[in-house]
Amino acid sequence: MQSSEKSQLKEFNFAQKKKISLYSVGVNLFLSLIKIAGGLISGSAALVADGVHSLSDLAASLSVYVGIVISNKKSELFPQGLYKVENLVALVSSFAIFFAGYEIAKDVLFGELTQMKSLSAALIVLGITVLTTYLYSRWERQKAIELNSPSLLADSEHVKSDFYTALVVLVGVLGQYFGYPIVEKIAVVVVIYFIFHSGFEILKEAIKVLLDASLDHESLDKIRAILEAEPRIRSINSITGRNAGSFKFVQLDLALNTDSLKEAHAMAHEIEDEIKEQMPFVEKVVIHYQ
Ligand SMILES: [Zn+2]
Repeated sequence: MQSSEKSQLKEFNFAQKKKISLYSVGVNLFLSLIKIAGGLISGSAALVADGVHSLSDLAASLSVYVGIVISNKKSELFPQGLYKVENLVALVSSFAIFFAGYEIAKDVLFGELTQMKSLSAALIVLGITVLTTYLYSRWERQKAIELNSPSLLADSEHVKSDFYTALVVLVGVLGQYFGYPIVEKIAVVVVIYFIFHSGFEILKEAIKVLLDASLDHESLDKIRAILEAEPRIRSINSITGRNAGSFKFVQLDLALNTDSLKEAHAMAHEIEDEIKEQMPFVEKVVIHYQ
């Protein structure tokens, strides 16, 4: 791959990520509006609570969008790029999610019992929610893998948990309708569990990348396989790497089959290009050779 093609690919990926994160903002805006409206019309506290949860999702998806826009900038002050802004934004989103969980627990578990006014309004809203979240999370997950984007993957996981949450709210709504308020409370506890779980997953991943945890085994093995197929490498002393945003940074310590410094330098460049070509999200390879 030529370097101009490479930068075109990067531009394309960036535009895609920006577009998808904006779709997420739209989906969350839509879901919070219909859930809160449907919850008020039907008199379902669980549905209103889920609407509040979608509002916090809206805040989180807005910050992901902003994060993606900022992470593409490079400046004199940040010569290594701002890739990690994407992970930082994921970190902030996780706190927004924890807060939403807390709010719902407070309102529904310790609030007053409410009377169901319109079962059909609640069912229509939940039907739309189930369908939207199921289809959107599948589509977004696939795009996240194509684009190697941690924030989009986290978002698709979250939308999937929103799908399960809607199913649980459905059970709660039916419980309330048939006169079993305890079913509604249990449904809300399950909703809260899902909320905290997704928040914790996002938090864990963000902290790992922010603290420069090692590249995953799969990537390290793939790099090793590429190096082992190269006959000009005498021995591989070490392979290390880290993530930043959607990208991977690799460091190699190699012994090369040459005594010429000039030749070794050219080889190092070729090895870097080879790795970048086979692994599109490797941004940089630093090679020490002897
Ligand atoms: Zn959510």
